[in-house]
Amino acid sequence: MIFNRVNSRRTTVIAVILLATALANSTAAQNKSECPVRVTLLQVNDVYQFVPVDLGKSGGLARVLTLRKKIMGESRNTLFLFSGDTISPSIESNTVQDGKMLQGRQMIEAWNLIGLDYATFGNHEFDFGPDVLRERVRESKFKWLGANVFDKKTGKLFADTQEFVVRDFEGVKIGIFGLLLPETLKTSQTGPDVEIGEPCAAAARVVPKIRAAGAQVIVALTHLSMSEDKQLARCSGVDVIIGGHEHTLLESMAGHAPIFKMTSDARELGQIDLNISRSTGKLESIDWKIWPVDENVEKDTDFAPLIAKYNDLLNSLDQVVGQTAVKLEMKSEDVRTRETNMADFIADVYRRSTDADVALINGGSIRADSEIEPGKITRRDVLSALPYNNRIVKIEVSGATLRAALEHGLSGVAPGEQPGRFPQVSGVRYAYDARLKPGARLTSVAVNGKPLDPNQTYTLAASAYVALRGGDSYDMLRNAKILVGPDNGPAEADVLLKEISSAGTIAPRSDGRITRVDVAKDQTNCR
Ligand SMILES: [Zn+2]
Repeated sequence: MIFNRVNSRRTTVIAVILLATALANSTAAQNKSECPVRVTLLQVNDVYQFVPVDLGKSGGLARVLTLRKKIMGESRNTLFLFSGDTISPSIESNTVQDGKMLQGRQMIEAWNLIGLDYATFGNHEFDFGPDVLRERVRESKFKWLGANVFDKKTGKLFADTQEFVVRDFEGVKIGIFGLLLPETLKTSQTGPDVEIGEPCAAAARVVPKIRAAGAQVIVALTHLSMSEDKQLARCSGVDVIIGGHEHTLLESMAGHAPIFKMTSDARELGQIDLNISRSTGKLESIDWKIWPVDENVEKDTDFAPLIAKYNDLLNSLDQVVGQTAVKLEMKSEDVRTRETNMADFIADVYRRSTDADVALINGGSIRADSEIEPGKITRRDVLSALPYNNRIVKIEVSGATLRAALEHGLSGVAPGEQPGRFPQVSGVRYAYDARLKPGARLTSVAVNGKPLDPNQTYTLAASAYVALRGGDSYDMLRNAKILVGPDNGPAEADVLLKEISSAGTIAPRSDGRITRVDVAKDQTNCR
């Protein structure tokens, strides 16, 4: 196959590597001088809001609609694919309208409007539980796919989705199936009746069926980690993987399948053109282009009714609540791997709001995945940081339990990983060495200036999710004595809003409370 990404630095390398295969595969078609059938896949993934992000500079589904119409005008065989994560988390999804929490309804309306064809489930699709997701699936005018997501009660696929679909374009057939990362069982609210199978096992079951149904080209629409996607590429023989989940622009290859992932919130639109031989049905080459979705793209007016419908909510989110004198660091890759100024600030707010000795917040709870430049802070900025609006609870733990919690939080630190459990803290200073065995990585821990005493009792502020529900597998906190429970504890976004608006201007600084002893020389991704 020939792979050609427009303007890619990698094009040359990939072209050289694949030259031999390319020559072998394309000779037949060239001899006949026939035009291959071009099937265009449009891709977005991890889209949590339909309006633009980054102060209006990027994203926005009205702009995506403009691009979609333009591309469809040039390529009649187009499928618009979404690789998961949309109904949560966002402020909109947690907003009550007409007496009911939106819980992602607004995103389904947006996808219906924009004309999505297929979506795969992301882990966050289960954040409101399986019943809400079933309701969202019913509202969708497009098809959801999840070949490894089962309903144990019926023994069928979750929400009665199809195992795969096969589409015919000018006589060539494309098969598509969806896969969700099994880790969802631990990180979201799948409930007792949902089972998520291993991706390769699901592919081994489904791919032969797709081939038997006559498809010559197979697309896996996935919401997996990159290492799982690469494994899938090697184990399954699929032709292309349209993925998501990382929030990083990734173009990789394993087996013979390229893997594409956009960042998030429709900051880019992926266009992947599959060129398929009319006579042999073989995938001859792939061209791709990543379209930036930015201020140079006009907003399609067909999208205006949806903006109008949610106008009041959107306006209230634009309200300015304070200022920051410094850049606020809240990128996922930072808050899940190291101390940042905003993670410190949030952990301090947690501790103060309950008057606890220490606070612990799992980095994955800080959701904004952005940096706020010095200047205005809007309500949306604050609520995006903590969209779940968890209750903060206060519990009593021994020093030994606190140490176990910190060790658990650090156990996932590894090159290329962004563990949601990473412990951001207040009232605690700790150092760790990621070269040591998980579970024994702490090299020092001090609580409010004194070494941690395993036998002493400390009060700990944490979210109800982490402290009471064993969120991110912090099970060691589960049976602690509750001093302030979820009914009396403050809501996290509310206290953050209050702190910022009463301060007027904030300027948080990291104070070195978290030290990584091994300044890893090789922190590059290993997938
Ligand atoms: Zn995800």
